[in-house]
Amino acid sequence: MKLYNLKHSDEQVSFRQAVLRSIGRDSGLFYPTALPRFADVDALLAQPFVARSQTILDRLLGEDFDAGVIPALVERAFTFPAPVHAVSEKVSALELFHGPTLAFKDFGARFMAQVMAHLLERGDHQGPLTIVSATSGDTGAAVAHAFYGLPNIQVVILYPKGRISSLQEKLFCTLGGNIRTLAVDGDFDSCQALVKQCFTDREFVTRFGLNSANSINIARLIAQSTYYFEALAQLPQRDRVVISVPSGNFGNLTAGLFAQALGLPVHAFVASTNANDTVPRYLQSGIWNVRSTVPTLSNAMDVSAPNNWPRIEELFAHAQRSLSSELRHAAITEPETLAALRELDQLGYLAEPHAAVAYASLKRNLHDNETGLFLCTAHPAKFKEAVESTLNRQLPLPAALAEADRRPLLSHEVPATLAALQQQIAAAWQ
Ligand SMILES: *Cc1c(COP(=O)(O)O)cnc(C)c1O
Repeated sequence: MKLYNLKHSDEQVSFRQAVLRSIGRDSGLFYPTALPRFADVDALLAQPFVARSQTILDRLLGEDFDAGVIPALVERAFTFPAPVHAVSEKVSALELFHGPTLAFKDFGARFMAQVMAHLLERGDHQGPLTIVSATSGDTGAAVAHAFYGLPNIQVVILYPKGRISSLQEKLFCTLGGNIRTLAVDGDFDSCQALVKQCFTDREFVTRFGLNSANSINIARLIAQSTYYFEALAQLPQRDRVVISVPSGNFGNLTAGLFAQALGLPVHAFVASTNANDTVPRYLQSGIWNVRSTVPTLSNAMDVSAPNNWPRIEELFAHAQRSLSSELRHAAITEPETLAALRELDQLGYLAEPHAAVAYASLKRNLHDNETGLFLCTAHPAKFKEAVESTLNRQLPLPAALAEADRRPLLSHEVPATLAALQQQIAAAWQ
């Protein structure tokens, strides 16, 4: 696969380069020069999940690697299923939370980590590789678990001390090994600012091989396309399928649109957001107007300037398709989210606020002769407080969380200064 920079189309890179660089000149996103259209989708859908994902990713990325490499990386990354659960006669849920950190980000982060470890091994990257990332919860956990135990890679994750839930903290700050977690004396913005500042010190970046491995990395998106195939493979009825994607930075929806471009017969997508509704307002009015971010129950989607949006614009422009008439959308309020959570519970399905947003938005956008699917991006236990207070009952803790909860915290407490961060990065290599 070849890719180009959306801001400077003359900057063309291989998939391997795009993964190692994450982002191009002037912070331009990398975008594939071409996506093939598979002629054998029915045969692909007949295969089991891992085998099918190996085939798809090998077709897209294989030319950049020795034979057999991509299938081996997929096998190591995709160690958990993505089951479809029927919720009502016409609506099903795709559960993407059966990985080690109980959220869909495990799929993309684990494949990206495997690719990076392989590139290091074959010498594409010289010297140390240090993943440095700031998190307000979910992303850090997925990245930490994805890279845990991989040779010659150190991971340093910053989070605001006392401002993430104790369960969230336990999930990624108890690993040890090559994972160093920093409880920063500050808020999430100061963590992010520190990481940014660290990346401007060119000499330091080169010495420790700093890489952000963040959600705009193309390896994550390409890997995520495979579970859309898995969803259709499991649906008993594949005619006129409409898929609702709970969206924040819009990486998940980009991956779904990639799958559709590859030939997956999805009738329509629904871009579903909470009150942070820049995209629904844009699709309605044609005006891109970013307002300040408001906190909601579905906090992983509290994003007002979604960083993957230029990729979606490019995809529609390429295909000469109309965004405003083809991409369905809705912004769901907090009361509507709670009502959807209760409605799902009455249908016998336990969800959490992100999936509830997707469900509410799907119902608003599903026509009579269509089949609906909504994405469940996190395990209900990850949003225990909100779910328990809405449904008035206690949730059991899944085994992975209960086990992490028993382990001691290994975080280092640091002030929000560049010197402290650089010292911690250096210490990770000693
Ligand atoms: C990250 C996240 C999202 C948003 O996904 P994007 O790809 O950023 O649109 C939705 N739900 C959960 C639980 C998440 O962690």
